Amino acid sequence: MNASDEGRLIIISGPSGAGKSTVVRQLIEQCELPLVASISATTRTPRLNERHGVDYFFLTEEEFARRRRHGDFLECKQNFGLQNWYGTLKEQVAAGLNAGKWLILEIDVEGAMEVLRHREFDPITIFIHPGGLDELERRLRLRGTETAESIAARLETAAVEMSYLTRYRYEVINDTVPAAVDEICQILQQAKELNECSKS
Ligand code: 5GP
Repeated sequence: MNASDEGRLIIISGPSGAGKSTVVRQLIEQCELPLVASISATTRTPRLNERHGVDYFFLTEEEFARRRRHGDFLECKQNFGLQNWYGTLKEQVAAGLNAGKWLILEIDVEGAMEVLRHREFDPITIFIHPGGLDELERRLRLRGTETAESIAARLETAAVEMSYLTRYRYEVINDTVPAAVDEICQILQQAKELNECSKS
């Protein structure tokens, strides 16, 4: 296998409501790299038009706990505000990397730190945020999918998440989706060139 066929792990984190999911979706469509999103497991309730096996694997608490005990997760974490579990399945990562894909993990900061402890991956880490907590609150309200309680919990989490910014290799401010997509695509293209240079 030559260097350009090798899989890579990309971690994208940032406060929820920062527009990460939209950016990741468009990045996969537009960036000319073999990008694919890892599908996480969660115990949270699906939002309108979210589908099992596409957006997440929506598991019951019992099933999630069983898979945890079985060691199926590379990392997993219980969201402290809303008590939902989220986790990256080892099988998703293995399948993506073995297929030579650039696998995007859109995961929270603690999950990201957990993946970084597995030294073998050397992921490209990107922190995306809207520029400030006021802007984040405005976007969460605009999205209209959250209850007031959920917005409050997400803002509290966001304040903690922002403190992890310096642990990431790249910072992207999501002013507009196309600009953020372009910036991340450039970051990844540069990483690919560096990868090829260091292996040639
Ligand atoms: P949401 O409920 O809006 O889909 O996601 C809430 C948060 O959970 C986001 O910050 C998202 O990045 C994070 N998340 C999604 N999947 C995973 C995962 O597999 N592991 C961890 N640690 N966090 C995740």
